[in-house]
Amino acid sequence: MAKFAEADARMFRNVFVCRRCKTKRKAPVLSVLAGLIPCRNCGTRKLRVKRKK
Ligand SMILES: [Zn+2]
Repeated sequence: MAKFAEADARMFRNVFVCRRCKTKRKAPVLSVLAGLIPCRNCGTRKLRVKRKK
């Protein structure tokens, strides 16, 4: 399958994954980097960017 940078960005740019419980969370990048977005499931603010599959 061809890879499109645009589609890639759309799918992954605003998606973060909780480091503790692996819950996916969609949020604006800046808010996450500023620590404003807690995990929906466990409440931790340690989110990582979703990358790779
Ligand atoms: Zn969590």
